[in-house]
Amino acid sequence: MQKTQLCDQLDNWKKRVASNHYGDEESTTEIVQLIKEVEEEYHEDDWVYFYREKENKDGNGMLLPLKPEGWSESTSTKHLTKKVAALRVATTELSRKAEGFVNHIRSLRFFQALRTIQLHRTEGGLFCSKCSSPIPDPHKATLLTKCGHLVCNQICYQANNESCPVTTCHALNRAYQKIPGQDLGHDDSHSGKISNGSKIDEIVDLIKGLPEDEKVLLFVQFDNLHEKVKKALDRADIHYADLNSGSGAAKATTLTNFQDNKPTKTKLDGSLREANVLILNIDDASASGR
Ligand SMILES: [Zn+2]
Ligand SMILES: [Zn+2]
Repeated sequence: MQKTQLCDQLDNWKKRVASNHYGDEESTTEIVQLIKEVEEEYHEDDWVYFYREKENKDGNGMLLPLKPEGWSESTSTKHLTKKVAALRVATTELSRKAEGFVNHIRSLRFFQALRTIQLHRTEGGLFCSKCSSPIPDPHKATLLTKCGHLVCNQICYQANNESCPVTTCHALNRAYQKIPGQDLGHDDSHSGKISNGSKIDEIVDLIKGLPEDEKVLLFVQFDNLHEKVKKALDRADIHYADLNSGSGAAKATTLTNFQDNKPTKTKLDGSLREANVLILNIDDASASGR
C-alpha cells in the first residue's frame, strides 16, 4: 500500500493565517474561526460537492471536475498524487480569497468609523484603535483609510510614520490615506441627528435647482419614505411619475411616458405636464429590472 501523500502547502497556509500573516488581527481571528468550523463539520463524503466520479456521466454532477485519483500527469507535478496537486491549487485559491476577505474587513471598518463620526454617534461609540481610550471628539482623531483604524491624535497618531500604530495591523497608510477628523464632516452639525425631513427637503431643493428639461431618477428604499417623498414633491409642485403604483402594464406606460417626455396629468391641479422625476422603489422588483 502506498503511504498517503500530504499537502504541506495547506498546513503551512493554516499556520501562516494563525500567525497573522495577512496583518489584520480581526480578519485573522475570523479566518481561524472559519477554518475551525470547516474542520469540525468535515465529513468524508463532502468531496461529492466538488468532484464527480468517472461513472457519473449524467445530471448536475457532469459540471464538476473528475475526482482526483492516481498520480499527477503534468510534468511539473509528476511527483505528486492528483489529490495533493488539487489541494495545492485549492490552497492558492484559499490564500487569494483570504486576502480579499481582509480587504473587505478593512473597508467595512473604515465605513463604520466614517458613518459613526458623520452621524454624531460618537458618545460611547468611538475608541482609539491603538490605546482603546474613548474619542468623544472626532476632530482629535485621525482615520486611516487603508485599514479603517481610527487613532487618537494625542498619544497614538504619528504623522511621519506610514505604518499603522496598531501593532497587529500591517497596513501602510500614505499621507493622503490619513484623514484628519476635522475633514470628515457631519451630516448635521447641530441637532445631533438626521431627520428624514431634512434629507427630503434637501432632495426637493436639489431637484428644484436643476434645469427644467433635466430628468431625475429617484431611488427610494422604504415604503414609508416613499410616501413622504411623494408628499414633499407634491408640496413643492414638482410633477413626478411613480413607478411603484399600478399594474405591470400601467408601470410600463408610466415608464414610456416618462422616457418620451409625454405630458401626464399632475396630481395638484390635473393639468397636463411632463414629469421631471421618476420615483423607483428599490425594494420593488421592477426597479431592478428583474
Ligand atoms: Zn490612542
Ligand atoms: Zn491599521
